[in-house]
Amino acid sequence: MDSAAVPEPAEVSGGVWSVALPFPNPLGFAFSYVVPAAGGVLVVDAGWDSDECWDAFQAGLAAAGAGLDDVVGVVVTHVHPDHYGLAERIRASSPAWIAVHPAERPRIAEGEHDRVRAVEDMAGWLGQAGAPPSEFAELEADAADIRSRISMVVPDHDLVDGQAVPGTEDALVAVHTPGHTPGHLCFHDRQRRLLFTGDHILPRVTPNVSKRPQSDVDPLRDFLGSVRKVRDFGDVSVLPGHEWVFADLDARLDDLLVHHDERLAEIEAAVCAGAGTVWEVTRAVTWARPFDGLRGRARRSAIGETLSHLYRLAVAGRIRWVPGRPDRWLPASGTAGEQRADIA
Ligand SMILES: [Zn+2]
Repeated sequence: MDSAAVPEPAEVSGGVWSVALPFPNPLGFAFSYVVPAAGGVLVVDAGWDSDECWDAFQAGLAAAGAGLDDVVGVVVTHVHPDHYGLAERIRASSPAWIAVHPAERPRIAEGEHDRVRAVEDMAGWLGQAGAPPSEFAELEADAADIRSRISMVVPDHDLVDGQAVPGTEDALVAVHTPGHTPGHLCFHDRQRRLLFTGDHILPRVTPNVSKRPQSDVDPLRDFLGSVRKVRDFGDVSVLPGHEWVFADLDARLDDLLVHHDERLAEIEAAVCAGAGTVWEVTRAVTWARPFDGLRGRARRSAIGETLSHLYRLAVAGRIRWVPGRPDRWLPASGTAGEQRADIA
């Protein structure tokens, strides 16, 4: 599958540099950003853990006029491996600390047992989704890969909503934007009028918002709230975790809200047409690439995305949820043993 070309390091604004780090995904690369700070530079997001990325990261630092000795801290939007991968290598080779939102900490494995459990949890989740036996075989084949992607790198500091990033004289502020992950952060650079958005807001791709083990109860509710939340930042340049830097934040936020409204309507219609399990609904709706061609993580992301919408619809009373193995999802009218989604 074609991946986007990896751009050269570039100065985005006022000494802030973007450094694209390649990773094995159709998105092609994830951005690290190098930001001037007291005593050196901060790094926002830390790419994928590979020798190729490590070399590219150091070349990017050099382009920005810095070296590893200058890195005072690494702040990450979330602990997915394309944003957190190099954090440990950077910390081990520099004076840097690592900071994340505390809601990301439960998603960092404390030992191999946590990695094994993550795969077991996913098998249980596929069962509840009504996935066929072939999906379990594929999960088994993927298990080593899944385990290896769960980080065991323990951060040094927490950053919560509204907190200034140390060393930035209050110019860079953490903004909690749960949805893509429970502890996702954006970073607002007030002086330069920049918003680092990680995977919360991308210029073209809609971030995956999945309900699955270790997600929040209602991740789509959280995500939509986080989309509205970043409207407050108005006229900023958006520095996302992938794709490209862009300017018209409001238009992109409108697109995302419309996208999910349409998605909710499509999924509600699929349930009304008789699709009754997450698996059946996932197969009934349209994806950017045909579902049958999706494999492994991409396929599980589609299932998780469908479930986050089903849950939101059930909470809103637009469909009914009958918990079980598998869970059943039914049109809103009717009475057979259903239960409203249990949430405030
Ligand atoms: Zn990402």
